[in-house]
Amino acid sequence: MRAVVGGIPGVGKSTVLDLLRARLGPRLEVVNYGTVMMDEARLRGVTNRDEMRRLPAQVQREIQASAAKRIASARAEYLIVDTHFSIRTPQGYLPGMPLHVVSAMSPDVLVVIAASPEEISYRRAADTSRIRDASLESVREELEMEKLFAVAASNESGAPLSIIMNRQGEAEKAAGELASIMGVRSR
Ligand code: ATP
Ligand code: MG
Repeated sequence: MRAVVGGIPGVGKSTVLDLLRARLGPRLEVVNYGTVMMDEARLRGVTNRDEMRRLPAQVQREIQASAAKRIASARAEYLIVDTHFSIRTPQGYLPGMPLHVVSAMSPDVLVVIAASPEEISYRRAADTSRIRDASLESVREELEMEKLFAVAASNESGAPLSIIMNRQGEAEKAAGELASIMGVRSR
C-alpha cells in the first residue's frame, strides 16, 4: 500500500506520520520527498535547502525526477511519501506531483492533511525550529492551492483523494484516520 501524503508547511504532516510510525513500527516506511531531493541535489554539489530552492527551475525539476525514481524502488508493506502537492515560489505555485512524478510513485491513495488557517498560522509561529510565513492570508491561499493541486494529481494518477483534518491537539485522531484509509490491519 502506497500513499502520497501532502499538506502545506506547518500543517503537521511529519507529526501525524511519526505517530503512525509509532503504531506500525517497521511495517511502515515514511519517505520525506524533500529529504530525498536534497540527497540528489548534494550529488550535484548543492549543500543546503535554501541553495536548492534558488536553482533554475529546470535543474529543480531534474532533481525532482531523480528523487521520484529513487522513491519508486522503495518496498514496504506500508509506504508513505511525505510531500507537498504544491510549492509556493516567487514565480508561482509549482506542482509537487506533476504527471511524471505521480506516475513514478504509483500511489494507491492520495491524502491531504489540512487544518484551519488559524491553527496552521499559530503552529508556524510557534515552531521556532523552522522558518515559515505565518500570515493568515498566505496560509489561506496555500491551503486552497494545495487541495487544487491534489485534485490534479488524483485525476492524473486515478488514485482516490481524501482530506484529513489535523485538529489542534488531535494529531492521534488524524493518524487513526490515515491508518484506516490505508487499510491498516493490526496483527
Ligand atoms: P513541513 O511541511 O514544513 O515539514 P509539517 O506539515 O511536517 O511541516 P510539522 O513539523 O509536523 O509540520 O508540525 C508543525 C508544528 O505543528 C510542530 O510544532 C508540531 O508540533 C505542531 N503540530 C502538528 N500537529 C499538531 C496538532 N494536531 N495539534 C497541535 N500542534 C500540532
Ligand atoms: Mg515535515
